[in-house]
Amino acid sequence: MVGTMHAWQAVERGHEVVQIEREAEARGASLRNFGQIWVSGRAGGEELETALRARELWERIGAEVPGLGFRANGSLTPVRTPRELAVAEAALARPDAAARGYELVTAAEAREINPALRGAFEAALWCERDAAVEPRTAQLHLREALRASGRYTFLAGREVREVVGRAAVRDDHGDVHRADAVVLATGAWLSGLVRELVPDLPVRRVRLQMMQTDPLGERLTTSVADADSFRYYPAYRSPALDDLNAGQVQAPIAAAHRMQLLMVQRRDGGLTIGDTHEYEHPFAFDTLEDPYEHVAAVAESFLGRPLPRIRHRWAGVYAQCTDTTRVVHRQQVADGVWLVTGPGGRGMTCSPAIAETTANELGW
Ligand SMILES: Cc1cc2nc3c(=O)[nH]c(=O)nc-3n(C[C@H](O)[C@H](O)[C@H](O)COP(=O)(O)OP(=O)(O)OC[C@H]3O[C@@H](n4cnc5c(N)ncnc54)[C@H](O)[C@@H]3O)c2cc1C
Repeated sequence: MVGTMHAWQAVERGHEVVQIEREAEARGASLRNFGQIWVSGRAGGEELETALRARELWERIGAEVPGLGFRANGSLTPVRTPRELAVAEAALARPDAAARGYELVTAAEAREINPALRGAFEAALWCERDAAVEPRTAQLHLREALRASGRYTFLAGREVREVVGRAAVRDDHGDVHRADAVVLATGAWLSGLVRELVPDLPVRRVRLQMMQTDPLGERLTTSVADADSFRYYPAYRSPALDDLNAGQVQAPIAAAHRMQLLMVQRRDGGLTIGDTHEYEHPFAFDTLEDPYEHVAAVAESFLGRPLPRIRHRWAGVYAQCTDTTRVVHRQQVADGVWLVTGPGGRGMTCSPAIAETTANELGW
């Protein structure tokens, strides 16, 4: 998505773009994510501004490309204990709470917004600015729109292997591609060419487990998070969060796998549910069942009903700046060649704004 959004910016500004993809079809983090355009938990300042700008761009691009499935569905984070409620209240007291569309709603009000939430909870943090797109198909639709410009070519099944001069790269078919500018948006593939160009890249890899159900049979009108998500997102840092972390023990399986519940409904009615976070290498090559059981139980407790059958399970890896306050790592790595990677768990959200910043900085 980072590469595709750079293509979008360049084409929109009248340039010709060749996008080179190693796989026959992209298979990286951009297809494996929730498709959450997630404003709610972003750190105040640059990160929030980027997410809000990106959301504007997603909405605009979504109007041009309906196949993206952009929808301003908002999110609800139900809370059950006084400590969780205190974190939500502290979030509401932030000076940027209105920009995020935060509101604290009662359980009854939450059910008016999202009637599928029939489980037990006391109140919920509503974030009106959160939105969603369809990650598995978004790139196909964007590409179709880019192709219609007549200035876009997608070359699949070619790996970029070498920089061979000013803004020129060679692929593994031996073909050289010359341009005015090259953007390497290689996601979490940090070895090979990227390591050769930047041996000390300040970016790490993070692996997540996910799943998707059969259609729910009813609408989940908002995205849903659990209060464990408060523990991970910078917007919720407060004395109230310190109190939650100190006084309300996370379920051992959730703590061991740095888990939270995030849940979003796909357009076919299925639910994308996650997630775990694994930081230590080597990553597991298989997916573990215990975290799935935990997150399914949390989801069921909010829905007040059993989940439909699990249709897909998968893991994904994203690249994250080791200084997690940085939105992305953008670096000129050779003459006319820039590397853009490391947006972490907000890369789907922020990609249009990240690409816009690159375009502005490079004077496209
Ligand atoms: C499970 C999961 C859930 C997530 N949920 C969200 C979410 O809900 N919201 C959000 O904002 N973010 C989310 N993220 C983060 C987000 O998905 C990523 O930050 C974002 O997709 C990164 O995009 P990318 O284009 O940099 O990487 P990728 O999507 O991984 O794309 C990189 C592409 O480069 C190609 N490539 C690599 N090297 C070469 C080469 N040498 N030559 C040619 N091609 C090459 C790869 O094949 C790949 O297609 C999630 C991530 C994961 C893993």
